[in-house]
Amino acid sequence: MEIRENVPVTSLTTMRLGGNARYVISAKTPDEIAQAYSFAREHDLPIWVMGGGANTIGHDEGFPGVIILNEIKGIFVEQDGKFVTVDAVHQLSDELTLKGMGGEVWDDFVRVACDLGYSGIEALSMIPGTLGAAPVQNIGAYGQDMAQVIVSVEAYDTQTDQFVTIAKPEMELSYRHSRFNHGKDAGRFVIVAVTVKLHKGELSRPFYNSLERYVEEHHETDFSPSNIRRMICEIRSEKLPDPKEVASAGSFFKNVFVDKAGADEAEAKEIPIWRNADGSGKINSGWLIEACGLKGKELFGFVVSEKAALVLINKSAKTYHDLDRARQTIIDAVQEKFGYTLRQEPVEIPSLTEEK
Ligand SMILES: Cc1cc2nc3c(=O)[nH]c(=O)nc-3n(C[C@H](O)[C@H](O)[C@H](O)COP(=O)(O)OP(=O)(O)OC[C@H]3O[C@@H](n4cnc5c(N)ncnc54)[C@H](O)[C@@H]3O)c2cc1C
Repeated sequence: MEIRENVPVTSLTTMRLGGNARYVISAKTPDEIAQAYSFAREHDLPIWVMGGGANTIGHDEGFPGVIILNEIKGIFVEQDGKFVTVDAVHQLSDELTLKGMGGEVWDDFVRVACDLGYSGIEALSMIPGTLGAAPVQNIGAYGQDMAQVIVSVEAYDTQTDQFVTIAKPEMELSYRHSRFNHGKDAGRFVIVAVTVKLHKGELSRPFYNSLERYVEEHHETDFSPSNIRRMICEIRSEKLPDPKEVASAGSFFKNVFVDKAGADEAEAKEIPIWRNADGSGKINSGWLIEACGLKGKELFGFVVSEKAALVLINKSAKTYHDLDRARQTIIDAVQEKFGYTLRQEPVEIPSLTEEK
């Protein structure tokens, strides 16, 4: 296991904020995750687990403990009851059980599924970050999410120091929510492998709004997983910043969910709303931010993306204080105009003062 000292959190997160982490350990095997925990406990240091840092914000004080980076690689396909590497696959059926290790790049996992011709995660193409983080906030986009395909995860249980298998029903997955990021078990499990079940076939129309629009405009007729993936990559490249070039954490706020009465009220105010069968609905927070006139506006070194108002780009900000002021300006504007309180999507590395 590789241990580095005094590593800037800016280099570990796509929002590029934060001071130094006292230690960063890159874990390349499940055992190294356990060893990293032992190291932190021996030194009596707090621990924070990360993948690609695409949904994580650092604080100016840094982190006076151990950040564990999940870098465990490998993608496997189930064949005759065993998991084999993709090049050893000899027979494909209607269903595919695909397993990847937690440190795999999420989009590489999607590419493998699409190349093999299986549907289920093609609309989740190009979401930055690792496979291990994908169930944590139940990543979703363009009508698909992890909850639709996940079977189980293998995880290191930091309470018992055992490796356990957690099946989907025990994960409590919903919109940007899981047992891994909410409630008494938040942060308890380090996900070392994820297994999903995919199907031969294609997504059927109507697709999610922007995908449907793309299909109509480009007269697309091939809805195979790889072609949907190509379309999604094109749509996302147009709209969303490339984390390698532009600092952001993707959508900075969660969408707003309202019950039936709230949905009726929103509709009366001419706020676009996506209704569920029971009358409740979802309001796009990006729409609310745009309607407040904030799209493209620069706030304390951050810019509300001109292309997608839900995305907050770090143009020149250096401190968490700048983020705090930009965030509050947006929250206040939406609260004042519409009465909704926006909630932040990215998580924050705990702000702890140096203890040791
Ligand atoms: C440009 C851009 C676009 C984005 N688009 C989308 C989108 O369309 N849909 C969407 O849902 N998200 C989107 N995101 C957010 C982000 O890509 C996802 O949340 C992704 O899953 C983060 O992965 P990561 O490895 O970077 O997680 P990190 O930021 O490293 O970690 C996120 C959380 O997961 C925990 N965690 C990480 N790895 C593990 C593990 N192995 N075991 C247990 N806990 C772990 C961390 O402790 C933290 O709480 C976007 C982000 C960016 C920058």
